[in-house]
Amino acid sequence: MRELNCKQTEKLITQFIENDMDHATKWNFLEHVDKCPSCKEELSIQFLVTTGMQRLENGDTFDLNRELRSKMNTERHHLQVLKSLQDGLYATQALSLLLAFLILIMVVL
Ligand SMILES: [Zn+2]
Repeated sequence: MRELNCKQTEKLITQFIENDMDHATKWNFLEHVDKCPSCKEELSIQFLVTTGMQRLENGDTFDLNRELRSKMNTERHHLQVLKSLQDGLYATQALSLLLAFLILIMVVL
């Protein structure tokens, strides 16, 4: 995992809002925003401005703070599922390596 600094994170905010981001970047982005109050603040503002403008044009009613929270939760959940799938994959690989090793030992002995 690559640690992002504030400058990098700020540049990614638009991409995050527009869903134009790969999983690895999104993961790093959320990690940083979780820990960094000033980037979280910046994300809220940009989200409110971007999404708020669209909504005004559409004439929808909205609760943007709630929407941002739910977007972040959805993304985080999605990434956690992905990550646990990856971890599962690694575990399977480790297990088959161990099995191969055990078989090798039994053959040699
Ligand atoms: Zn930051």
